[in-house]
Amino acid sequence: MLRIAIQSKGRLSDDSLALLRDAGIMVDELKRKFLGKATNFPLELLYLRDDDIPGVVADGSADIGIVGFNEVAESGLLADAPAVPGKVTLERKLGFGKCHISLAIPKNQEYTDPSFFNGKSIATSYPYVLEGWLKENNVDARVRKILGSVEIAPAASIADAIFDIVSSGGTLVSNGLKEVVKVLDSEAVLISGPSMDEEKRRILSSLLFRFDSIANSAGKKYILMNLPTESVEEAVKLLPAMRSPTVMPLAAEGWCSLHSVVLEKELWDKIEKLKAIGAEGILVLDLDKIIL
Ligand code: ATP
Ligand code: MG
Repeated sequence: MLRIAIQSKGRLSDDSLALLRDAGIMVDELKRKFLGKATNFPLELLYLRDDDIPGVVADGSADIGIVGFNEVAESGLLADAPAVPGKVTLERKLGFGKCHISLAIPKNQEYTDPSFFNGKSIATSYPYVLEGWLKENNVDARVRKILGSVEIAPAASIADAIFDIVSSGGTLVSNGLKEVVKVLDSEAVLISGPSMDEEKRRILSSLLFRFDSIANSAGKKYILMNLPTESVEEAVKLLPAMRSPTVMPLAAEGWCSLHSVVLEKELWDKIEKLKAIGAEGILVLDLDKIIL
């Protein structure tokens, strides 16, 4: 049995459960209690506040966790190597919950360089990450830890600047602030702890295999079409697919059906080129998983 910690209620909860569901793991979502269990996979779910997730994974109370990288960075528990006692390892970036932590100042002030912050006070819920940046940039500023409503700190004369999460920037603008330094990029990540026995490692690798198959299908489409047989060679050059496209003869003489996988961003360009060499009846379908 492997135990995963996920956020109980918040921005990452639904996407974390959706990822498990995509991986074929059935969880009773109506029972988001402290501890739950998957019905068809050896996985226990521990529902927590996101701030607590790096700590419980580091001390082995949970084996793995899904949490924002910002929280992992702030915990100071990230190890460069696997299985460091009391630390966590980054297993995968998960592609959702994207945001960054930035320094922002009142919009009427002019920002020059990091020395701007010398002698200033900065309000943040991420003091550890901020202290790291200040040190790296030789800035001597006062860090004021506040847990919520950080963005109102300058207007309320609590601090001169803020260091906080930004996704669209709308909150900053509505509080008369502007982003001046992007310090940390974040997204949801899967972390693992230091003390997993062989059975747990095996379960983790089967989970990672499923997550990777889902990630592989991202941004890709399945495409199939009818094509004059004489154009197959040209079409194969256009559609390299994983090994090579599948080509099947049609009942109609001189025609075949060709199936392949294309990157979504190249889809329309490829379709135009395929039409130019005689492709007809082109179907484009969503891809669920790609098992390599
Ligand atoms: P908890 O009650 O679990 O402590 P929280 O209030 O600290 O929750 P949420 O607001 O639910 O946290 O955000 C969880 C995570 O979502 C953040 O740590 C961050 O990684 C990510 N995130 C993505 N976009 C944003 C955003 N615009 N604002 C805040 N967090 C964001
Ligand atoms: Mg939190």
